[in-house]
Amino acid sequence: MMQPGLKVQTLSPGTPPATPSISAVVPCYNEEDVLDELLRRLRAACEEVVGDDFEIVLVDDGSRDRTRELLREAQSQDPRIVVVLLSRNHGHQLALTAGLNIARGKRVFVLDADLQDPPELLGPMMARMDEGFDVVYGTRRSRAGETRFKLVTARAFYRLLDRIVDVKIPLDTGDFRLISRRVADILASMPERHRFIRGMTSWIGFPQVAFPYDRDVRFAGETKYPIRKMLVFALDAITGFSVLPLRMATALGFMFAAFAIIYGGFVLISWANGAVIAGWTSLALLVLLLGGVQLIMVGVLGEYVGRLYMQSKERPLFVIDEVLRAPADVRTPDRMAADG
Ligand code: UDP
Ligand code: MG
Repeated sequence: MMQPGLKVQTLSPGTPPATPSISAVVPCYNEEDVLDELLRRLRAACEEVVGDDFEIVLVDDGSRDRTRELLREAQSQDPRIVVVLLSRNHGHQLALTAGLNIARGKRVFVLDADLQDPPELLGPMMARMDEGFDVVYGTRRSRAGETRFKLVTARAFYRLLDRIVDVKIPLDTGDFRLISRRVADILASMPERHRFIRGMTSWIGFPQVAFPYDRDVRFAGETKYPIRKMLVFALDAITGFSVLPLRMATALGFMFAAFAIIYGGFVLISWANGAVIAGWTSLALLVLLLGGVQLIMVGVLGEYVGRLYMQSKERPLFVIDEVLRAPADVRTPDRMAADG
């Protein structure tokens, strides 16, 4: 029992202002095992930098484990937490987009739920941003605990991408980053469905700086990026930022045309000399080769046409089931003064 006259210590922290200094945005898909630890570390990191002046936007991307319930519970206990429940699984990039659209902070801190991106780097990244950058993006100096396959494919992918896209997209850079309000607003205004957010951020421009860090092991649970999703993601990145694969058709066309002229000369001379033989092997090889190349190029064309088709439907990028958020703290300067 509480004695009368004793000062009541509020356990729950205060509601952040309508535009907090920092919004941390975290997409979560079947992350029941990491949420507790994530919230503990992320909250501590934010408190250290800005006190109560932050919000944590957690997006549930249609999880099938207890993630939703855990998020609801966390939100009911801490007014600084905002929970966005999507109607189904929309994929990492769209879940992140939903979070970016809901976040209101002056700066937005984007990180994965699995603690591979250390929340404690918020402080140093804020300091970098204070120097006048709009984007401070995490660049992986090392990646602990990833499979050899993931390391090799990721490395190759970022280098391939660098060679073929028109925008300079930094190597070995994920979505772990701190962005300014204006960059968040521009990102939110980009209507593309097949999103490669790290590339889109580079495309936006403004002063951006790399922040090298060591990527930790996944705290718990397993990767939500199986090979199939990795491949689609890579295709979204390439088609989203380059039409080079389409131009390959033209290049190949010229190559084969040149070959045809040379080989045609040979064929004609053979005919003139009366040395025309059965030639089934060469014919079969030519048909196979040309047929293969043509099918591949039709497939490449299809990748673009398919995306064009999906985009042309202009469907919303994601569907929100529910947003859980404490009513904004509407302290006016007067009241704040009265509060002391
Ligand atoms: N994620 C998501 N929707 C998905 C897949 C992943 O929101 O369909 C989230 C996931 O919960 C995590 C982040 O995206 O916070 C990155 O996923 P993960 O750590 O599994 O990818 P990896 O680090 O293995 O590339
Ligand atoms: Mg991860």
